[in-house]
Amino acid sequence: MLLLFSTKVQAQDQVINDIIKEARENSELKAIGHELMDGIGPRLVGSPQMQQAHDWAVEKYKGWGIEARNEKWGEWRGWERGITHIDMTAPWTKSLAGTQLAWSPSSPKGGAAGEAVILPMMADAAAFQKWLPSVKGKYVMISTPQITGRPDYNWEEFATPESFAKMKEDRTAMNAAWNERLRNTGQGRRELPIALEEAGALGIITSYWSQGFGANKIFSASTKKVPTVDLSLEDYGLLFRLAESGQKPMINLNAQSKETGMTPTFNTMAEIKGTEKPDEYVMLSAHFDSWDGGTGATDNGTGTIMMMEVMRVLKEVYPNPKRTILVGHWGSEEQGLNGSRAFVEDNPEMMAKIQVLFNQDNGTGRVANVAGQGFVDSYEYLGRWMNKVPRDITKDIETTFPGNPGGGGSDYASFVAAGVPAFNLSSLNWSYFNYTWHTNLDTYDKIVFDDVQNNVIMAAIMVYMASEEPEQVNREIRIPLDRIGNPTAWPSLRSPTRKGGVE
Ligand SMILES: [Zn+2]
Repeated sequence: MLLLFSTKVQAQDQVINDIIKEARENSELKAIGHELMDGIGPRLVGSPQMQQAHDWAVEKYKGWGIEARNEKWGEWRGWERGITHIDMTAPWTKSLAGTQLAWSPSSPKGGAAGEAVILPMMADAAAFQKWLPSVKGKYVMISTPQITGRPDYNWEEFATPESFAKMKEDRTAMNAAWNERLRNTGQGRRELPIALEEAGALGIITSYWSQGFGANKIFSASTKKVPTVDLSLEDYGLLFRLAESGQKPMINLNAQSKETGMTPTFNTMAEIKGTEKPDEYVMLSAHFDSWDGGTGATDNGTGTIMMMEVMRVLKEVYPNPKRTILVGHWGSEEQGLNGSRAFVEDNPEMMAKIQVLFNQDNGTGRVANVAGQGFVDSYEYLGRWMNKVPRDITKDIETTFPGNPGGGGSDYASFVAAGVPAFNLSSLNWSYFNYTWHTNLDTYDKIVFDDVQNNVIMAAIMVYMASEEPEQVNREIRIPLDRIGNPTAWPSLRSPTRKGGVE
């Protein structure tokens, strides 16, 4: 008996060594990262690039001998980003750094010239309505200006404590005043741009600084007829100060984009069929879509290429798994976990048969945190599997058991709600929130391939161990408690948006 056991452990260790060797020596991470981020580009739901990415992934998997398919779950307003050229033409000439927001309407061909004006402080909504006709033929700046273009860590390093404190005080006051200005218009955040375009504004200028040098967050436009653009902190500040001092800055804005009609949306699924328990699953999960200010390299290009590479490595060294290994590359996570929610909703019979799921979606860093999501026994099996991962990869990982069930944030939550032991392999942040998350700077150069490769090794070993586990793991849950110790509720299942981007 002891002999049998040790033979089995030896065979396991051999597979694990093969996983590590394949991931280290034959890594395709850089190649697929380049093909996806540089060759295809950002993957906004409904865009032609999103479709290209789905088709590319299926082809890639097939090339590795892995069965893959695109599963339709809904449709979305289709839109294709074109050029954005923004030039200041007076009081001097400068090409400005900025881009249209996703789903922004186009400007007239060749652009339109007009003065850039600031949303003024109004006494109330009536005063706003009275002022409104004056925006005709002008661009309106509606974002708060920044008091400094330096991130706080830069102030902390170089400022005197007094001036750092004063800056923060001034900034708080300025933000409060700007919020009051917005409130006094009587318009909501998404409504204000529409009121302005209705009154004949040529376009809306925003600036959503991400609090890092050169980094702005790029989300979506609410205008229906005229472009909405985001300008860099520096150029927004320039126009703002010129307008404030009465110098009437003029810009020419040329933003082109295409409405491409309602477009089908998909999840890309790939699998390595189980041999002993083919109808039980070990799942990998990473959303495939992105915002489109950059190329979605760390959100979630790195999660995507990590899962693809895990599949490639496993197919190479563990081609006949005990359970079926299934990966979901979800569509439209960014608009509310839509692809994964659709999968959970469309496959209710599968949920009891998913052994575990591993999701990755917060940047390029090596795994730094794993939480048990409220599954009582998770410390036992996750701990046991993690012990098989090389120590240099796991030594700094913080674990929280059993933890609380995640109600959102990324696609694992869609599965946790269905009672599936689904875990997030949470990354070291590498300045994710300021610099790359939903920003113009989320590009290939920010990928830290050594860290992604470590994540590949870890996930591949965990999936292998989960697949080989004799029985299904215990799924008992602990209901989370609120702050004063009363039991709350397990997160409930939520339906996806199946027809998106339309009113
Ligand atoms: Zn993400």
